[in-house]
Amino acid sequence: MNVSFLGLGAIGAPMARHLARPPFSLSVWNRTAARAAAFASETGVHAAKTPADAARGADVLVTCLPTSREVEALLDGDDGLLAGLARGTVFVDCTSGDPATSRRIAGRLRERGVDFMDAPVSGGVSGAQQGTLTIMCGAEPATLERVRGVLEAFGKKIVLCGPVGAGDAVKAVNQSLLGIHIWALSEGLVALSKAGVSASLALDVINASSGRSNVSQNLFTERVITRAFPRTFKLALLEKDMTIAAEFARENRVPSPMMQSAADLFRVARGALGEDADHVEAVKLLEQWAACEVAG
Ligand code: NDP
Repeated sequence: MNVSFLGLGAIGAPMARHLARPPFSLSVWNRTAARAAAFASETGVHAAKTPADAARGADVLVTCLPTSREVEALLDGDDGLLAGLARGTVFVDCTSGDPATSRRIAGRLRERGVDFMDAPVSGGVSGAQQGTLTIMCGAEPATLERVRGVLEAFGKKIVLCGPVGAGDAVKAVNQSLLGIHIWALSEGLVALSKAGVSASLALDVINASSGRSNVSQNLFTERVITRAFPRTFKLALLEKDMTIAAEFARENRVPSPMMQSAADLFRVARGALGEDADHVEAVKLLEQWAACEVAG
């Protein structure tokens, strides 16, 4: 099966690595060509010169870019995807995208006989490395079946959420929950630290109690208490996801003060901490506001 993978970023590269072996024949493309060249020489796969070259001859084409906007922008032009895509290819977008843009892309591809599926992932860089990602699919059931083998190379839980756009919507709501947990735990631990309670002791208690979450059990324990703050998932990307969730709720006329406020708070954090900050670094903004660091 000929597979092309476009977007070798923090999560795209470890996902693509699982496809660099039989039964797949892999081509990769990345905007910064040096990254694709390094990946190709390390894994022995083909580095395509342009998106059109990557699309030519692909049975399945996978994209993993920051937002749906970058995916849509890749379609047009002499070197764009539409110049190379042939009828019968399945286009799988693993970007955490927005439902409306995904539906628009799907419509344009349908005219060319190409089926589209939004397939955002969850599980982080470590889940991508281990091939255990959760994949939220928005597509016709038959489209998913055609690409299931590709998804199984890097995913463990693969769920059809509904028609095109449904995967993006579920992913956005998940991300909103992630951001809300990060923000709420930051407020709580900064307050406890300011009052002189050890944050690691408090986390130990919370993790054996009803307030625990992935954020308390894994992220804060490994990244905040240690002050390690590894940069694996940009706060800028989480803010983008939370904004998609907030807009989704508003479009569906669902009162959502928590989702709206959380998206606003992460927009402030993005402005203050910059485009390269990791998502968990949001706690640093609260530490600045309270003039108190979360103390072990
Ligand atoms: P990165 O910022 O690490 O990588 C982004 C990738 O997109 C790079 O390959 C980059 O190319 C490429 N890119 C950026 N802008 C353009 C453009 N205008 N045209 C073409 N290519 C472009 O992001 P991640 O890999 O972390 O995230 C990718 C997607 O996966 C996002 O939607 C994110 O929300 C989602 N995601 C990320 C997770 C994570 O833990 N990192 C977890 C789950 C989902 P270049 O090398 O040239 O910069």
